[in-house]
Amino acid sequence: MTTRMDQALGPGLYIVATPIGNLGDITLRAIETLRGVSVIACEDTRVTGKLLKHLGIKARLIRHDDHASEVDRQRLIETMRTEPVALVSDAGTPLISDPGFRLVREARAAGVAITSLPGPSAAVVALTLSGLPSDRFLFAGFLPNKAKARADVLAELASVPATLVFYETAPRLDDALAAIGEALPGREVAVARELTKRFEECRAGSAAELAEYYAAHPPKGEIVLLVGPPLEAAAPDEADVDTLLLAALADFKPSQAAASVARETGLDRKALYARALELRGQ
Ligand code: SAM
Repeated sequence: MTTRMDQALGPGLYIVATPIGNLGDITLRAIETLRGVSVIACEDTRVTGKLLKHLGIKARLIRHDDHASEVDRQRLIETMRTEPVALVSDAGTPLISDPGFRLVREARAAGVAITSLPGPSAAVVALTLSGLPSDRFLFAGFLPNKAKARADVLAELASVPATLVFYETAPRLDDALAAIGEALPGREVAVARELTKRFEECRAGSAAELAEYYAAHPPKGEIVLLVGPPLEAAAPDEADVDTLLLAALADFKPSQAAASVARETGLDRKALYARALELRGQ
């Protein structure tokens, strides 16, 4: 199943990403696909209606979200067997903190052809802009509203060796920054706001610095909050290593003492063994 731009679309489900603020970010394939499908399933017909009007596309819109009934989903899946159906959300990539997961899962189980047309997603735009390590990241959606649940989620994520990416809203930003400062102390944080729009901004610092800044400049608009990976545990200095080795040598042979301290500190076992022999000889 491809969306070659010169061919009529085959039946199936077309997951179509749409802009997150800048209409210029719609892709050529997205336009052709939205023009070519029989039905567009969307979160809010008014929001998608505006996008289609801007693109000069007339299409049948059906409201669809994760609260849709099983019957509604199955009806849509039946349509996909004979006609091309697009799935869009209000903005960005469907299913990414947006509806569509159940529909895709059930369409897949039903053997319907599915393809996904890539486009903007705020999480990825923010990550690329933040300057935080991008080799590993964990997208964690929205933090819970309630303080205890939010702290529990942050505690669960604290040891994940990756940049954490959260979706946020302006009114909740101060609470989120306070909770991050408490649960993930010392970590680098970035606030990416109004991405792809006129007042796009990305600001980095500690949670406390950002909280202070946004207390003085109340944020508006849409926000992605990012937290850098856990800091490397500070390497123990030489005196600490000697203390650990001497304690281990009281009970073990040098090779065992070196292995034990290597496990504890992550330092090189061979170097520790050489030092253990030196200490033994002193
Ligand atoms: N599916 C969308 C995507 O792929 O990015 C996300 C939908 S989610 C319901 C909405 C959240 O995405 C907002 O609360 C905000 O955290 C983030 N977001 C969406 N557009 C954004 C933008 N232009 N700038 C910053 N964050 C944005």
